[in-house]
Amino acid sequence: MYINIIVKKKLKFNSKTIHGGQIFEKGYGAVMPPIYQTSTYKQESPGVHMGFEYSRTHNPTREALQNSLASIENGKYGLAFSSGLAAIDAIMKLLKPGDEIISTYDLYGGSYRLFQKIFSRFGLKFHFEDLSRVENLKNKINSKTKLIWIETPTNPMMNIIDIQTVCKLAKSKNILTAVDNTFASPYIQQPLDLGADVVMHSATKYLAGHSDLILGSIVTNNDEIAEKLSFIQNASGAVPGPMDCFLTLRGIKTLHIRMQRHCENCREIAEFLQKHKKIDKVYWPGFKNSRFFNVAKKQMKDFGGMLSFIPKGANYQTAEKIIKKMNVFTLAESLGGVESLVGHPASMTHASIPKKERERSGLLDSLIRLSVGIEDIDDLIDDLDGALN
Ligand SMILES: *Cc1c(COP(=O)(O)O)cnc(C)c1O
Repeated sequence: MYINIIVKKKLKFNSKTIHGGQIFEKGYGAVMPPIYQTSTYKQESPGVHMGFEYSRTHNPTREALQNSLASIENGKYGLAFSSGLAAIDAIMKLLKPGDEIISTYDLYGGSYRLFQKIFSRFGLKFHFEDLSRVENLKNKINSKTKLIWIETPTNPMMNIIDIQTVCKLAKSKNILTAVDNTFASPYIQQPLDLGADVVMHSATKYLAGHSDLILGSIVTNNDEIAEKLSFIQNASGAVPGPMDCFLTLRGIKTLHIRMQRHCENCREIAEFLQKHKKIDKVYWPGFKNSRFFNVAKKQMKDFGGMLSFIPKGANYQTAEKIIKKMNVFTLAESLGGVESLVGHPASMTHASIPKKERERSGLLDSLIRLSVGIEDIDDLIDDLDGALN
């Protein structure tokens, strides 16, 4: 049984974040869905109940969130998981031993670890390629290829992959495409509309948006995939609790206004760093001379809140020194919250990827990554300028 409300009324994105897929609570007319902190539900007689039996299978607060997730990604079915990695884990369980997956080569370190350290032991074979060049994808596809896994913008190199081109090629060969849309958020890009079969999020990041929980999501339009994923969600059991579902739902209601400010602030910082004499390179897809500018312009509404940079002549130690001098930017893993964060991918988020593999994608020890928050831009620029000088 899969419960899902498909909202007939067509709303624009900035209204979907607030109303998408939501129904009013019947008991007291609460405007926000209650936190149904319960594991089980009373049955009138064996098998006769009000649609809910056990909270691993269904929970009303989770349903409300799942419907919101589906709505903001322009999909039919939404599923919530206990973390972004649990969502990816569920997608991989659609496959069977012998199947091959082609993935972006600069991807989230935890995804790489899940693929290489867990699923490759169960007979799945992964290829990691620079998918911003579609020839690389063409060359790797064979009769065993079942899934293409893309992250765009990539983490932390901010490469952009042409979702539509990849999906078209995949579809012509009967291969599924899954997009990790965490970095962009559905405010910026909606992969299902570009042909993707599945879109996944670490809702921990922009969707929840306040650095206060861990949660993952999957959205699809495909009835068969939805059915299978729903089965896996219940059978494997990596579901989020109702409190975290509630908080994510609350976060989503301000997604559009937060994203707007994230993008504005990030653009100012990118331009500031680009002109700064102590900076060697800035990775941000919004520069007109970037090789990614045109494809970014085509598939993204804006350029997002993330960027990476390399200070002039920097190494591991100098990068570390600059990071330690920052005050408004907090040194921490993660991204997408209202507060600005700074990270050192080589020692933090991407430490689980071998150095040789990291450097193949340009992820040097001197690279610094920023998740630009929604603070006052003057304070952010002052903080960066002070640390660099
Ligand atoms: C954080 C992150 C994940 C993993 O999500 P969790 O919620 O931490 O399990 C996956 N992909 C990307 C791009 C991420 O940033």
